[in-house]
Amino acid sequence: MDPTKRKTIIAGNWKMNMTPSQAAKLTFDLKTAIPLKRRACEIVLCVPYVDIEMVKTGVTGSEMKLGAQNVHFAPKGAYTGEISAEMLTECGVEYVIVGHSERRQYFGETDETADKRLLAGVNAGLKVILCVGETLAERESGVTTQVIARQTRVGLADVSREMLGNVIIAYEPVWAIGTGKTATADQAEEVCAFIRGVVAELYDSGAAEGLTIQYGGSMNAGNAAELLSKKDVDGGLIGGASLKPEEFAKIIEAAER
Ligand code: PEP
Repeated sequence: MDPTKRKTIIAGNWKMNMTPSQAAKLTFDLKTAIPLKRRACEIVLCVPYVDIEMVKTGVTGSEMKLGAQNVHFAPKGAYTGEISAEMLTECGVEYVIVGHSERRQYFGETDETADKRLLAGVNAGLKVILCVGETLAERESGVTTQVIARQTRVGLADVSREMLGNVIIAYEPVWAIGTGKTATADQAEEVCAFIRGVVAELYDSGAAEGLTIQYGGSMNAGNAAELLSKKDVDGGLIGGASLKPEEFAKIIEAAER
């Protein structure tokens, strides 16, 4: 992290967990575990759509911001099961994730759809977290950087330099998501620095230096401090541990150090 250059963001991805009543309790517990103080890092909860209203009420008076887990690229229309950027913003959502590996793996999303979704989100005033990351097979066959470069370039294909201020990239090695297998801090730093280099080539070094790049993949209270101590790791996208208030609070503390 280099808080002098860019914002540190700790975002929880609740995935398909928490009914509205469970979400209300979790938000209350998070609010207790993460007391109000002027924090250096931004805290975001990316929740299921049906929980948005409940969590919006629950985070009032805290420093936690509201996020969603996807957004469609069309403004409206015949896209059963999808959600538009305007629907999210009207509900008070500030952040959205696009291109998560679970969307790519189970729902046929691609670098191209991530780009279109990202554009729709940014155009509507959302801050968009673009996920990139290699599979285990890709890492083992030595193509990690090629994969990350392609995902970054295509994912940002329609993003102007001005728009980049509302974009965050999350490096999430697929083999580390939900597996309990974390990338080492050096592996995370290596790829996050690589992404910054790709962004510098696409735009310029100022744009790259100002971009928040998170690490995601089994980040927890035990490994967060080391991962976040790396200069190009500007926060975390956290799945499992974001559902545990004490654990999530400890990750935030690690980001504040
Ligand atoms: C994620 O869902 O983006 C994620 C990183 O999950 P986990 O922390 O559970 O690996």
